Amino acid sequence: MAKLSLIVPVFNEQDTVNLFYDAIEEEHKNFADYELEYWFIDDGSSDNTMDAVEKLIEKDSHVHTVSFSRNFGKESALYAGLEHATGEYVAVMDVDLQDPPSMLPEMLAGVSSGEWDAVGARRTSREGEPVIRSWFSNLFYKLINSMSDTHIVEGARDFRVMSRQMVDAILSMQEYNRFSKGIFSWVGFKQKYLDYKNQDRVAGKTSWSFWGLFRYSIEGFIDFSRAPLLLVSVLGGIAFVLALIGALVVFIRAILYPDTSVFGWPSMVVIILALGGVQLLSIGIVGRYISNIYLEVKKRPIYVAKKVK
Ligand code: UDP
Ligand code: MG
Repeated sequence: MAKLSLIVPVFNEQDTVNLFYDAIEEEHKNFADYELEYWFIDDGSSDNTMDAVEKLIEKDSHVHTVSFSRNFGKESALYAGLEHATGEYVAVMDVDLQDPPSMLPEMLAGVSSGEWDAVGARRTSREGEPVIRSWFSNLFYKLINSMSDTHIVEGARDFRVMSRQMVDAILSMQEYNRFSKGIFSWVGFKQKYLDYKNQDRVAGKTSWSFWGLFRYSIEGFIDFSRAPLLLVSVLGGIAFVLALIGALVVFIRAILYPDTSVFGWPSMVVIILALGGVQLLSIGIVGRYISNIYLEVKKRPIYVAKKVK
């Protein structure tokens, strides 16, 4: 009997763990010819999430957990889950039921038939989400896809079923700064996305703030594009050409109208401020890349587990 491993990151999800388990058990009837294995990855929850998970482990021998020593973030949780999953097929899912379990059989069928290496889910609507958030999210996908060689699928969730081969490829990417949307795409293979409408959380609340998402998107740019570095060079080039033109203008004016050469200190201030701004921006961009190199070379573990069960 083939096995499907479900990887479920949980961070302060005491209200949703049981609802999730029940919903999956119900749905399992529709793909009962597969054995199920649960991996709840506790990302340093500070509520009673672990109690709920431990109760499930006592009840059902298919339930497992990796519990982190602190909050390492969802990306680390996904990595830990992929590392521990033993199934021929591996699914990644959120615990809040925003990823409809009813899509699992179709995804699994697509991968197990050998036609696809991964079948994921893509939101076609963002109903129930603040308008401004959707707007920024659209902007993010436009920008990153115009800058990055790796195609980031618009609206794609982390929710997906993958083949063992693809999981092993993802695990071979040992980077510390993990941007899963990019990693899933970077490894290649044949991937398909099923469309669905946005679902609301069953319980609990999202742990993503607007700034959290903003920082996450910057991470995406730094990890999967070098275009910002090119931008820095282009800005420098433009400033240099403008300086040459300026020098020429000053020189010619000094010859034609020798008396006016003392004018121009306000414009000087503007030029200094503008160039100072461009320089700080450029240093900031280069600094982001250097800080990521710094984190990579330290080779810190992607997560620290305090319990594996
Ligand atoms: N999550 C996690 N670590 C975190 C934040 C979130 O493991 O630091 C988990 C969370 O428990 C859930 C999934 O990641 O299973 C998605 O989180 P959430 O629903 O808050 O995000 P959203 O759906 O709003 O993007
Ligand atoms: Mg959610």
